[in-house]
Amino acid sequence: MKLIGVDLGGTTFSVGLVSEDGKILKKITRDTLVVNGKDDVIRRVSEAILELSDEETPYVGIGSPGSIDREKGIVRFSPNFPDWYNVHLTEEISKRTGKKVFLENDANAFVLGEKWFGAGKGHDHIVALTLGTGIGGGVVTHGHLLTGKDGIGAELGHVVVEPNGPMCNCGTRGCLEAISSATAIRRFLREGYKKYHESLVYKLAGTPEKADAKHLFDAARQGDRFALMIRDRVVDALARAIAGYIHIFNPEVVIIGGGISKAGDVLFVPLKERVIDYIMPSFVGTYEIVPSPLVEDAGILGAASIIKERIGG
Ligand SMILES: [Zn+2]
Repeated sequence: MKLIGVDLGGTTFSVGLVSEDGKILKKITRDTLVVNGKDDVIRRVSEAILELSDEETPYVGIGSPGSIDREKGIVRFSPNFPDWYNVHLTEEISKRTGKKVFLENDANAFVLGEKWFGAGKGHDHIVALTLGTGIGGGVVTHGHLLTGKDGIGAELGHVVVEPNGPMCNCGTRGCLEAISSATAIRRFLREGYKKYHESLVYKLAGTPEKADAKHLFDAARQGDRFALMIRDRVVDALARAIAGYIHIFNPEVVIIGGGISKAGDVLFVPLKERVIDYIMPSFVGTYEIVPSPLVEDAGILGAASIIKERIGG
């Protein structure tokens, strides 16, 4: 059997044909064109699925942003798809492709992808965070995805790490997402220009508007004072949150994905040190903090892994 994974994003969607051991055999990426309405999106996603299908692909896994009902296969609503309310996505796609379709929230799909194909392989207790435009996360505990009563649980990006800190998209102040996401970093860099315009960050970026997480970490690696100051704030917020997850879930591994995770030592070395400052001594040495090995393909592999999770590998 081969797997088909659909990473449904607000800007683009990707469909991948994936081997059972998590190798991407073929991949299609297209613009989502949300403005054309949901029927058009569903039609074009279905077409891409059929283009990659053969007799060895009876199942499709879809990772979708927003609030989903995984049992009924419904996207209840999603900030990325303004006209989608209670869309029966699995039924619609199944009707057009003849496949059995499974749906999961994209952040939860990310942790499943790590469990089946990535840094979570062989582990039963996993916390995974994706640092991107927002911060998504998922938890596997005793081998099972933690979803909560309504299935919307493990919003790891919305724990408060700076009381009265920056406003978050969710309406609360000081969430992890408001400090350590790529969006938050861009905001800090725009705000810092007036006082720190001589920083290397802005030389690397060209203009303050273009300055992003990559410029920040590149400048921090070269010892730029302003970049190190922002880096430390991002790391401190992450460390407080991760220390909390470690205390609550007692994971074997904490996996960090998303574009920011490619920063390497300039992020991970201080992060590991700072987490130790925030955890109880009895937790020291019980976990690892590692970058996601899947990164670019995490969306497709996460979606494909939903199939493994639901049909039992
Ligand atoms: Zn929030």
